[in-house]
Amino acid sequence: MAQETKPAEVASPSAAKPMDPGARAHQLMDDVAPKLADITDKVLFSDVWERPGLSKHDRSLVTVAALIAMGRAESLRSHLELALQNGVTREELVEEITHLAFYTGWPNAVAAIGVARETFARNQSASATAKTTDAEIFKANSGPFSAGEPGNFTGDAKITSRYRTAPPSHGSGGTVAFGPGGRTAWHSHPLGQTLIVLSGHGIVQTWGSPAHALGPGDIAWIPAGVKHWHGAAPKEAMTHVGIADVQNGNTVTWMEKVSDTQYGEAARSSR
Ligand code: MN
Repeated sequence: MAQETKPAEVASPSAAKPMDPGARAHQLMDDVAPKLADITDKVLFSDVWERPGLSKHDRSLVTVAALIAMGRAESLRSHLELALQNGVTREELVEEITHLAFYTGWPNAVAAIGVARETFARNQSASATAKTTDAEIFKANSGPFSAGEPGNFTGDAKITSRYRTAPPSHGSGGTVAFGPGGRTAWHSHPLGQTLIVLSGHGIVQTWGSPAHALGPGDIAWIPAGVKHWHGAAPKEAMTHVGIADVQNGNTVTWMEKVSDTQYGEAARSSR
């Protein structure tokens, strides 16, 4: 994987923000175990945590639950910070710990409340002195990207997750940068999908219907449960944002790949 740098965040509430988890991995381990620090940053924080299949809010909830179950107070401290940063509320964290008292044992839950109290107090004093209402701006083609799952994409497709929602929303979204000829496999979304083309030219096609050309500024709606694919034109890249609601923890059902014949025909007919 290529070395990727975090993009600059414009007007981010930096004073209230805990250290970037990847940078923290380096700080904790670089002197003794630089390789472990490196893969922790590149694989865990720049790839797994960025995958669109689960929101960061939900990833934080399950990570906190695991750390409480294992009684890892030190890791819990930094992950409670990260959870707050990922939009998990104090009320949700207290509810989670209460719930876990029955599954991980009362002593683990009480210890976790102690760590949570410290974290909330620290967070309170930090947020009192920092602006937390600023917008955050990201460039569409900035990383960190992860490669699309080879079984679900043909050619070059890089994914990043810049679409955010706050609880109780179940919206989910991501940015996909397709290289020329890059495309998804056939798939469907349980509650449909909106595609917003940011740059380049591409194609979208639902099963049994004509292929449509896509260009910058185009917005495509794919109805719920309808089999379809989308991707770049043969000789041009395309980047789009895809937004789909989560149903039963699921945003997509993957199917077979779009064959070269199907793709070629769609490219010809959509010109
Ligand atoms: Mn789709």
